[in-house]
Amino acid sequence: MLTTPFSFFSTASCAYRVGARPVFCDIDPQTFNLDPALVDEAWTDNVRALLPVHLFGQCADLDPLLEIARRRDGIVIEDAAQALGARYRGAAGEDVHAGTLGEVGCYSFFPTKNLGGFGDGGALVCRDPKIAEKLRQLRVHGGQQMYHHRWVGWNSRLDALQAAVLNLKLPRLDGWSAGRAANAERYDRWFVECGLVERDCVKPPARAENATHIFNQYTVRVRDRERLREHLNEMGIGHSVYYPVPLHLQECFADLGGREGQFPHAEQACREVLALPVYPELEEGQQRRVVDAIDAFYR
Ligand SMILES: *Cc1c(COP(=O)(O)O)cnc(C)c1O
Repeated sequence: MLTTPFSFFSTASCAYRVGARPVFCDIDPQTFNLDPALVDEAWTDNVRALLPVHLFGQCADLDPLLEIARRRDGIVIEDAAQALGARYRGAAGEDVHAGTLGEVGCYSFFPTKNLGGFGDGGALVCRDPKIAEKLRQLRVHGGQQMYHHRWVGWNSRLDALQAAVLNLKLPRLDGWSAGRAANAERYDRWFVECGLVERDCVKPPARAENATHIFNQYTVRVRDRERLREHLNEMGIGHSVYYPVPLHLQECFADLGGREGQFPHAEQACREVLALPVYPELEEGQQRRVVDAIDAFYR
């Protein structure tokens, strides 16, 4: 299964767990998502599936990715865990939801996602009823009829309690995502205004032309990240690094033979990225404090 090394761990572990071998391919340094040209090169005869991730809430460039997968007779499974409600405008001009173009789309309702429950949860969508039926069976220990097991499945039910919470929150999802996008635009503007972009201290996230960004994370690249983080810690400003270690260099995947320097864009991103608070309830004054603190650090 071909995927990106710059993502959350489960992007690759899900393949590993079912006995497939994750094969990695470098990212586009602008969008942090898979680079279709590199996907085409990396696709060997053993690859049967492509798993693009819509990282931080912005769709990977699905049209060329789907074209490559179709040409190679592979399926596309979208990791839309961070992108529920994000849109992609394909070549045909249609505006589609992240997760609905591939054979299967995967969403997460982990509390940090744009639509978070009070605990763990997730959902899959798919267009083929046969795949849907098998997934339904796997969700409840792998059988259609209780105590008759056709597959070795899991206990992957969505709790009724979580479902109730998510049902109440769902109608507000688009409003929250719009709030995040507005906060992101304000950061963009302020980082330019205080000269940090021009001085190459902070690089705001790039927007893809054919995708809406719902900013599950507002991720900038920064210079001298570790010292900036210390400064932000002292100022009591929350931030995080998604992700400090690329998947091909994770200890548990050592047997896959990943080596340093193999995916330079992903590795560089791991050294430079910093996610800043962008949640919809964030107030303008709080955001000002974040930007002022970063500005002060580089002065
Ligand atoms: C959160 C996340 C997942 C997994 O979500 P779970 O709820 O733990 O299943 C997968 N991929 C990405 C990119 C994520 O951010």
